[in-house]
Amino acid sequence: MSVSPANRLNLLGMPRQRLAGQFESWGERGFRATQLVKWIHQRGVTDFAAMTDLSKTLREQLGLLAAVELPEIALERRSDDGTVKWVLRLADGNAIETVYIPEDDRGTLCISSQVGCALDCTFCSTAQQGFNRNLSAHEIIGQLWLANQRVPVPEGRSRAVTNVVFMGMGEPLANLDAVVDAIDLMLDDNAYGLSKRRVTVSTSGLVPALDRLGAATDVALAVSLHAPNDALRNRLVPINRKYPIHELLNACRRYTRDGARHHRVTFEYVLLAGINDQPRHARELMALLRDVPCKINLIPFNPFPGSPFVRPSSNAVRVFEKLLDDAGFVTIVRRTRGDDIDAACGQLVGEVADRSGRGARMIRLHADLPQPMGVRA
Ligand code: SAH
Repeated sequence: MSVSPANRLNLLGMPRQRLAGQFESWGERGFRATQLVKWIHQRGVTDFAAMTDLSKTLREQLGLLAAVELPEIALERRSDDGTVKWVLRLADGNAIETVYIPEDDRGTLCISSQVGCALDCTFCSTAQQGFNRNLSAHEIIGQLWLANQRVPVPEGRSRAVTNVVFMGMGEPLANLDAVVDAIDLMLDDNAYGLSKRRVTVSTSGLVPALDRLGAATDVALAVSLHAPNDALRNRLVPINRKYPIHELLNACRRYTRDGARHHRVTFEYVLLAGINDQPRHARELMALLRDVPCKINLIPFNPFPGSPFVRPSSNAVRVFEKLLDDAGFVTIVRRTRGDDIDAACGQLVGEVADRSGRGARMIRLHADLPQPMGVRA
């Protein structure tokens, strides 16, 4: 039996258990799946013919029915600070972005989960690109596969990428099934073997999907909060109108309390000058999060062309941070990395064949926002 090349099953994104079932349906032993997963994800081999511990017959059969296909690297840019950004071309012509951020003791890969984003957050450049579609599991895990091939392993470490954050383009919880399959491979010792604390899903707050994520896995959770009250969050993160802050915080409590989870939620808070960066906002935030085990990650706004916001002064950032710190919150100001190559938070745009008509909507939303002082409306 054979299928046309275009219809070959892409095995890259298939979790090991499912692959075992697939093998059994082909009349093969399930444990072959473990061998295949190791070849693909640990050794980086995509050509079945080279997988020498599989029988010749199986290799030939795989070649006829299946393939291991990766996105194509359309562009690779290296920042002065060591950050690497890739623009990856997908089979349908769309492009997404992936960013590698090296630090002394770790290498973090920031990956995309969708082509564009459907969520309209007013300060994010991905939102301006509009939305085309969800990524499949192979397009998500393919980002990790490629980064591991492209980044040399630093001395004293066994791998380049030690941490993965779903903080690239898209809303991971709007693409839950593919994200969960990709996470399965990230955590699988036969594939990437990352610990669940080193894989972080970041969400703007899709409450029902957050509960489903908690039922499926227990990786680390980051929540894009960005405002201490519903009136302001409705404007910055419009999905808040559907799932307001108290519902979101309850879902966070459920996520961290379930099972054997010990980690805290990380709340991301992008600081926008004159909008949400005042001491009164910090105080409101402290009251809001008083009884939620959490860390707070402050992200000074990264500008992009056409955005109506400005980054607060470093003094304003310090004042905000100190208020939270003094109140006992673990607070980190996220250092801007890779902004010389447009790789910083909120700067990832890819090439999205928009199907949402976003451009026009963004302009209306901006007109609706409180304008910071000294910034054009
Ligand atoms: N949709 C998910 C995943 C994207 S994560 C989420 O919202 O969490 C990207 C992070 O960068 C989010 O916290 C997002 O709010 C933040 N961000 C977006 N635009 C930004 C900008 N221009 N400057 C700084 N941070 C930004």
